[in-house]
Amino acid sequence: MMQNLLVANWKMNLSLSKATLYFNHLFQLLPKTSLQIKIIFCPSFIHLTTLKTLLLEKKEFFLGAQNCYKDSSGAYTGEVSANMLKDIVQYVIVGHSERRMLFSESNDIIKAKINQLLSCRLKPIFCCGETMPVRYDKQHIPFIHQQIESCLGHLSTEDIQKVTIAYEPIWAIGTGKSAGTDQIQEIHGSIRKYLTKKYNINIAKKIKIIYGGSCNPNNAKKIFTCPDVDGGLIGSASLEATQFVAMIKILIEIYEKNMEKI
Ligand code: 13P
Repeated sequence: MMQNLLVANWKMNLSLSKATLYFNHLFQLLPKTSLQIKIIFCPSFIHLTTLKTLLLEKKEFFLGAQNCYKDSSGAYTGEVSANMLKDIVQYVIVGHSERRMLFSESNDIIKAKINQLLSCRLKPIFCCGETMPVRYDKQHIPFIHQQIESCLGHLSTEDIQKVTIAYEPIWAIGTGKSAGTDQIQEIHGSIRKYLTKKYNINIAKKIKIIYGGSCNPNNAKKIFTCPDVDGGLIGSASLEATQFVAMIKILIEIYEKNMEKI
């Protein structure tokens, strides 16, 4: 059975000293046995190298960046390329709605970033999701399929398997109001169907589809047990070690239950 994953997107939060304290606390709270799931931390670029040494011995923990530039090098003041990240992280988030909206990132830019990441052997965590008006118009499924087709539609059978797809409805991010499980399953199931049609059922099953948007220890169990949800992309609730560990434990419990059924 493929490992599920939990991704902490810290966004522009936590100083280096707070991040170090966070990990000390997290290591104390975590079970000492093998965790059975993958956990990916995406702190600010500037903390990555320090935190890499902290996580060195932890085989279930991985580092990710929150963004990268669309070209490999050059006169782009303030930007960081996939090529620079490849020795430090394993994953990079791309297409987050905050970057799409606040930094005008189009599907074309996101596609270029995906290509950069794959050429550097990095694993993209690709975000998609609709606004509330799109959902009111009942256009959410075609809208999300279009985002996926524009950014990932060109990928080979081999490359698509390196991508994790994160469904993050924009109206649920940072609002404290997660999407309902029916809404989440409807989208995740439709993404799985899209992947089955485009590639095949075996590939579609291998690709991780995770949910983000006000996911927290209170609603995580319901969300993570949806049949097509393979984990979570967590913002606010990943900033507190106690809350994040509670979510890690929920995902492990679900993994263990599923293993019993096999
Ligand atoms: P919240 O969990 O704070 O809603 O953020 C979700 C998110 O944007 C993760 O990328």
